[in-house]
Amino acid sequence: MTADPSLGPPLVAASDLTKVYVLGDTELRALDGVSLTVREGDFVAIMGSSGSGKSTLMNVLGCLDRPTSGSYSLAGQEVSSLGRGQLAELRNRTIGFVFQSFNLLARTSAVENVELPLVYAGLGRSERRERARAALARVGLGDRLDHRPSQLSGGQQQRVAIARAIVNEPKIMFADEPTGNLDTRTSVAIMALFQDLWRAGLTIIFVTHEPDVARYASRILVVRDGKIVSDTRQEPAVAEQAA
Ligand code: ADP
Ligand code: MG
Repeated sequence: MTADPSLGPPLVAASDLTKVYVLGDTELRALDGVSLTVREGDFVAIMGSSGSGKSTLMNVLGCLDRPTSGSYSLAGQEVSSLGRGQLAELRNRTIGFVFQSFNLLARTSAVENVELPLVYAGLGRSERRERARAALARVGLGDRLDHRPSQLSGGQQQRVAIARAIVNEPKIMFADEPTGNLDTRTSVAIMALFQDLWRAGLTIIFVTHEPDVARYASRILVVRDGKIVSDTRQEPAVAEQAA
């Protein structure tokens, strides 16, 4: 792939990653030699059928899981050389993660959910609150601070999760099927938000199996049987924020 001059330094640099699960006497190669560079300013959609290894790849890139072999450097730091604490710190500083099922704490208000990464980062109470409010305002939920997840729609819950992912001002956001539980209209609104964040400088890697959603990205990777089988750039479609 030719370098795009609009992109910055590599944030993700993975070389020959494998992830092997041993099940009884069979081995399953969920990742089978993945090499990948993602630069600052990239907006990547990962596609592929169910079971192809997309989540495994996201979890390794997002430092939620370690590869069986291969090297991975995130924001210039070789991840395999880091201990648990250092890895947690690098993750907290560099990455925001968004899941298909939102993963919010149920009995906890939106603003408290968003504050959580700041608790781990050791910020004081009033600064946490202020930054969590600002992050919720940024995703269009400035008027829902005290709502619990059950009092919010699916799209709103995903916005809270996105606010939580960006509250630490990470360099890169990973999202595993962020629109998988949402209807079409809400999915487009979430992609419009992703595009806003991307234009403001956030690098984004997300998984989807819907071509309609992938067209909002600037680059599409296709994964099959644990391998990247295609890597293309495109002019992103413009997601129109529903009124
Ligand atoms: P996708 O997200 O593309 O649907 P996954 O990355 O979740 O695919 O899974 C890739 C393959 O690895 C699948 O065959 C899946 O069954 C297997 N797999 C994923 N996680 C585990 C695990 N913890 N133990 C054993 N096999 C797993
Ligand atoms: Mg998956």
